[in-house]
Amino acid sequence: MKNHPQNPAPEDAGSRRACPAVICYPIDDLPTLNPSCFSTTRETMTLVDEVIIPPRDAKTFMVPAGYYFRIVSFEGPQVGDLNLWNAQDLDEKFFSGKTRALHGTHVSVGDRLWSNLPNMRSMATITYDTLDWYGWDEDGGSVHDVIGTRCDPYTNILLTGNEYHHCCHSNLIRAIASEKGMSTDSAEGLVHDVLNVFMCTGFTQDTHQYFMKASPVRPGDYLEFFAEIDLLGALSTCPGGDCSSGHSSEEAQCYPLKVEIYKPAEEMIANWIKPTRSPYSRSHGQ
Ligand SMILES: [Zn+2]
Repeated sequence: MKNHPQNPAPEDAGSRRACPAVICYPIDDLPTLNPSCFSTTRETMTLVDEVIIPPRDAKTFMVPAGYYFRIVSFEGPQVGDLNLWNAQDLDEKFFSGKTRALHGTHVSVGDRLWSNLPNMRSMATITYDTLDWYGWDEDGGSVHDVIGTRCDPYTNILLTGNEYHHCCHSNLIRAIASEKGMSTDSAEGLVHDVLNVFMCTGFTQDTHQYFMKASPVRPGDYLEFFAEIDLLGALSTCPGGDCSSGHSSEEAQCYPLKVEIYKPAEEMIANWIKPTRSPYSRSHGQ
């Protein structure tokens, strides 16, 4: 509706619009992890576990603090929807909105995945991204967004009238319910906005609507994370496949994804200091 205003622009519209843009959350002083430490660790770490996620499904995985995990494409172009929780406290979970506010619409190496309030600490740092060459395309698109929420059956039925039961939202619910031995009704509240791994997205130039286009991911590509706290993760293989056309249906060609867990050398883990939760007083200043 922004493109169809009902009110005429005031005389000083130009000067009001010309105010300088200011970064809402400057991150220059954010604590950062040393990239050279990651490259050293990568040479010594060993694969200790892997989880295959079949097409149109989701699986959970555990990553101890100080370990690494990779989300790997190995059969064909496929997008994954990632949820993360504190393994000891599922009330602490990935905060897609604030991660976006801090690091931008799409994340890559050096960006961190932050947890919800009142925790507000880094859950994981992205340490390697084989798709970092993509940058920004001519449509303003890029990969690994924290814009989209996850495909879900409610929006699908609202827009199309069709029921579909393998949306990422539903897949993630079933996976966490199975992991925790709880009902799907109880598990639904644990599922949260995702990191869209490998998905290529942006906002259209004219209407600024969320768009997707075929993911550039190919077998062999991966996105690697360093776990800063003990993590429980869940990854859904989106029914949109490479998300080149639609989702929330059986139409797209879909492929499995793999999660690999890596253990660094013992001394590397011993040296790791877990980030503490936000020291902000929960009295809210009263
Ligand atoms: Zn999806």
